[in-house]
Amino acid sequence: MTEKTIRIDIGKDLFGANEEAATENATSFKKHGILAVDIMGSVGTGKTQLIETLCERLSGRHRILMLAGDLATTIDADRVASHGVDTVQINTGTACHLDARMIQVALREVNLSDYDLLFIENVGNLICPAGYSLGAAKKIVVVSVTEGPYMIRKHPLTIKRADLVVINKIDLAQALEFNIESLEEDIREVDSKMPILRVSAKTGVGIEDLMTTLGL
Ligand code: MG
Ligand code: ZN
Repeated sequence: MTEKTIRIDIGKDLFGANEEAATENATSFKKHGILAVDIMGSVGTGKTQLIETLCERLSGRHRILMLAGDLATTIDADRVASHGVDTVQINTGTACHLDARMIQVALREVNLSDYDLLFIENVGNLICPAGYSLGAAKKIVVVSVTEGPYMIRKHPLTIKRADLVVINKIDLAQALEFNIESLEEDIREVDSKMPILRVSAKTGVGIEDLMTTLGL
């Protein structure tokens, strides 16, 4: 197990170059037979726990690398590394999202031939991560029943760009009197064909479905 931390200072001219770098990343992942999954969602939606639960189930049959985007801490990477998974922490400083070039810099720390599955935990926020493609084959948006009923309606663009929406912490829905059907309706209003999974990363409910949907 290796655990690394790098710090990236971003410039202002990155947005234009991002798509190009994302395409390079996608090509590189394909060349190495890596499924890359970009996991987006606000702070506290359970992105890290979702990755941990997936790693518990998958580390026996996949060689997993996790890139953890965070402003300053290594908390998430440490949690995932505790499952024996290699991690690279990307501390973005002031940037509230990852971009494709940060992924390139982080991947210089590893040998891509050692992996076939890459989880990228994006910085916790549901707004700008969606605007920066990383070159991942799958983009998951994680929302949580703890966020209240308006998350989807307030972030339609993020949902539009996702490949899959995970509604996490469904084990808490009843206690919070949360209307999951209504949230799903909001998602379908943005994209009628969007795959939606009800998951509890904590109890494991829905994790098998998520793995199947990702082809894992
Ligand atoms: Mg996290
Ligand atoms: Zn941002």
